[in-house]
Amino acid sequence: MIFYLERKSRLNKYQFLHIAECELLPLEDGRIELENHESLSEVLSILPNNIKICSYCFKNKSNQLATKEANEKRNF
Ligand SMILES: [Zn+2]
Repeated sequence: MIFYLERKSRLNKYQFLHIAECELLPLEDGRIELENHESLSEVLSILPNNIKICSYCFKNKSNQLATKEANEKRNF
C-alpha cells in the first residue's frame, strides 16, 4: 500500500496519514509520499506519535476498526 502524509500539521500538532484512494488526500505539493508498506500497522510502526490516521481513508468496516484501534493506542 502507498501511504501519504500531509505536509502541514494541523494546529501544529497532528499530521494526517492517508492512502492513495482517499478523497481528502492533499494535492501533490501538500503531501509526502511514503515508501510502500504491507499494511497500516507496518507503516504506523515507523511513524512518530503525532501522526493521526485519516478516518475518511478507511471507510470500510475492517479498516475503520483498525483505524480506531490504532488511534486509541496513540492516545487520541
Ligand atoms: Zn484520507
